[in-house]
This record gives sequence, structure tokens and C-alpha cells, in this order.
Amino acid sequence: MSAEFDLINTFFKRPTTNTDLGIGDDAALLRVKSGHQLAVSADMLISGTHFFPDASPQSIGWKSLAVNVSDMAAMGAIPRWITLSIALPDVKEPWLEAFAKGFFACANTFNIDLIGGDTTRGPLSISVNIMGEVPTGHALTRHGAQADEDIWVTGKLGSAALGLAHLQDRITVDVASLDEALAALHKPKPRLNVGISLVGIASSCIDISDGLLADLGHILKASKLGANIKYETIPVMKAIHNNLQNDLIKHCILAGGDDYELCFTASKKHRDDIATLSKEHATPMALIGKTTAQTGIAVIHQGNPLSLETYGYDHFT
Ligand code: ADP
Ligand code: MG
Repeated sequence: MSAEFDLINTFFKRPTTNTDLGIGDDAALLRVKSGHQLAVSADMLISGTHFFPDASPQSIGWKSLAVNVSDMAAMGAIPRWITLSIALPDVKEPWLEAFAKGFFACANTFNIDLIGGDTTRGPLSISVNIMGEVPTGHALTRHGAQADEDIWVTGKLGSAALGLAHLQDRITVDVASLDEALAALHKPKPRLNVGISLVGIASSCIDISDGLLADLGHILKASKLGANIKYETIPVMKAIHNNLQNDLIKHCILAGGDDYELCFTASKKHRDDIATLSKEHATPMALIGKTTAQTGIAVIHQGNPLSLETYGYDHFT
């Protein structure tokens, strides 16, 4: 028991900046700014399912928090607090030290306090709860999109899936592109500043964790709309751009998860605002299509619709 406290104190207790009472009591105490709602989200990462059992603990630490920050970004919320519940098969101090290094690198980048959690023995799994603040009534939800709006994405899509395919020997990525693909997979950079700045501009927003079609599909389903997407306009890294016809590459772009870019809709009247935002945050934003009153997604490649079932996409009904 005391070993558990030592472990928590050594690896997880850090000074906090937004918190009335943090780690060490039976519960933490928080204060939400007036005029704000508390945005709460959770993500769990299981060894062997969400990361390779032998993956670098530092990147597991970064990613287990980054994917949660990305959910705050997608809501337009400012993340403030996290809890960390972790099951460990055994206590390996170098592993924990590296994990904490990656985890707090991300926490410090986004100024988030670790305020509590739980530590148990078991097959390696990491569960993070994140809480943030969003001005009341202004969160970016999935259900706010209107017909005939622009559909935008940040950054490049498919890079993380390309990195994963390389690690699984399903494709060989040339050396020049490998770093970029593996960085996207192991160290995703949540688009937090962009998400927060999209409040008042975007009509709906989601982060791309399960692939463009699946995640855009969530917006469309919640907003009761469809979409027309122009395949060629989806922003991708060079190694992908050179192979747009390849089936695996199409799969990476349309169905590849783990990019943690944002996909959002906005009225056409906001095009200038979005261009300004893109410059301000040095974040590329690409207009990839538009929403339609008619449900269903069409992805057009050189004038012809792609058959989406072959890319793991279930037409929602
Ligand atoms: P309890 O028995 O009340 O559940 P614990 O012994 O599990 O308390 O935890 C003691 C304190 O350490 C609590 O404040 C808890 O939130 C915190 N804590 C436990 N595990 C972690 C962890 N992995 N990361 C951060 N804080 C933790
Ligand atoms: Mg406990």
C-alpha cells in the first residue's frame, strides 16, 4: 500500500495551477469559471489493442493524454483537469518514469493539472478522464451542421494509418516519409488552439480518431445530412499523394484512424475567418466538400464516385 503511495508521489504528483485540491485526498476539488460549462470526456488505451505491448512508454504517455485533449479541441473546450487510472502488470520504474515523462510533456504543453486517479495491478491499460471549460451554450457539437455548408479538415489525413501499415509490414514507406508517418502515429498533436478558436465559426466539429468517413459520418448522422467530398482535395503527406490510386492508401485517407485532426463544418460566409485562423495558428485547413440535405456520403475521385464499402465504410441509414 505504502509502495503505491510512493509510486503515485514519485511519478504522478506534480504542482497544479488550476486546482483547489489535487492528488492526495479522497477527491479533488475544482472550480469551474462562471459562465462556463464543464466538458467531460474519457478515453481508454489497452495494450495490444491501442498500442503495441512493446511501444515506447514515453509515446504511450503522450498519446494517452493527447487523444483526450483532442476531444476537448473538438468541443471547443479549454482542458483544465485530468485523472489517470492505470493498471500495471508489474512496477518497472524505468517504464513508469518514461511514461510519466511523455504524459507530463503533453500535460505541460496544454497546461492541464493531473488531479487524481487510481493505480492497480493488471494487464497494462491506461484510462484518462479529462475535464475542461467551454462558454455556456457555445460548445462545438456534432449536431449543429446545416445543409450546403463547407466541410473542412485540419492538417493531413492518413499519415498515422500509413505509419501503422508500415509497422505491420502491409506497405513499405520510404525513409524520407517514415519519420512523418510514425510521428503522426506515436505523437499526435491535438489541434487545441484551432478548436477553441472555432467557437462561433464552426457549426459542428469532431476529431478524426476513427477515420474521415466514420467521424464525418457521426456529424452527418447527428445533423441529419449527407456530404459530397472531393477526394483530390483531402490534404495528405507526399508519400500518400504520390499513390492516390493505391487501395491501401485510399483506405489510409478515408478510413485511417489516429490522426486526431479536426473535421468541421462552417457556413460559406466564414471562409475568410477560417483563412485568418489558419494563418494565425500556422495550421493548414482544407475545404474538402460540402454538406447536402440528402443523406449519404459521396466521395468523388476525378469525376467518379468511389465505392466506399471497400474502404471499411458502412453506409449509415
Ligand atoms: P482511494 O483509496 O481513496 O481510492 P488511492 O490510494 O487510490 O485513494 O489514491 C490516493 C490518491 O492518489 C488519490 O488522491 C488519488 O486520486 C491519487 N491517485 C491514485 N492513483 C493515481 C494516478 N495513477 N495518477 C494520479 N493520481 C493518482
Ligand atoms: Mg483508489
